[in-house]
Amino acid sequence: MDNADTVLHFTLSDGAVRGLMIRSTQTAREAQRLHQASAVAAAALGRALTGTAMLAATLKEPGASVTLTVDGGGPLGRIICVGDGLSVRGLVTDPTVRLPLRDGKLDVGRAVGAQGRLSVVKDLRLKSPYIGQVQLVSGEIAADLAHYYVQSEQSPSLVSLGIAASDEDVTSSGGVLLQPMPGCPDELIDQLELRSPIFGEIANELKHETPETLVNLWFQGLTPVVLSQVPLAYRCHCSRPRMRSALRALGAEELKRMIADEVNGAELVCHFCNRKYAFTTQDLQKILDRAQ
Ligand code: ZN
Repeated sequence: MDNADTVLHFTLSDGAVRGLMIRSTQTAREAQRLHQASAVAAAALGRALTGTAMLAATLKEPGASVTLTVDGGGPLGRIICVGDGLSVRGLVTDPTVRLPLRDGKLDVGRAVGAQGRLSVVKDLRLKSPYIGQVQLVSGEIAADLAHYYVQSEQSPSLVSLGIAASDEDVTSSGGVLLQPMPGCPDELIDQLELRSPIFGEIANELKHETPETLVNLWFQGLTPVVLSQVPLAYRCHCSRPRMRSALRALGAEELKRMIADEVNGAELVCHFCNRKYAFTTQDLQKILDRAQ
């Protein structure tokens, strides 16, 4: 079975409902490896990354990106994820948090906390970005994202996110998004709500079914049509030139202070991928000279 991560776009009942089915196992696994995350942190980050892939999947402008921030006041701290058409990356303040299971499941809601906000910033390459923000409803992320879609995008949505993770590995991760279009018959929405309990099984199902098979299985009788399938990956776009710009943005005073203080220059770490960038005192001096 081809097990690459993918975002599958589909419709139901001649376009009355638009949907996305995402397999994000490798993406969530890579996030856990990079951040050495505990099971519950990997689960929270994996769900947020899958949600970010959902938000990014509908960006049409070239070069557009979306940033999802979940800040619920829980022990995990803040989750920040960035996505564009084909890739996502993310981080969490404290990836080492460990909590007891709740009803046999990873307690993502408690780790994230529910006293705070979920925000979405879409950089559509226009002058000002689109910003949407909602209060968290559970900290479990799927319900919070559904709440965001209704409140901020006026788009009633069914969101399900699932992940199977231990402290060592992510064995499966995925999500499904269903959005009834204007004029969608009530009976169809009822049908989907009736079937919604099975969507919670997405992580288990994706262990042995492809996203396409799952779409055909779950939406049998509702004329599912697959429109397209695009690859998804955990990828960071950091680079030395970008880090150099970040240093330049600190300003002349701060650069001067760094040159005076640091014996061996400076080391910058990308928080999305942990790649390290070393700048010698001479490098810093060159950046300062060019900035002035
Ligand atoms: Zn990076």
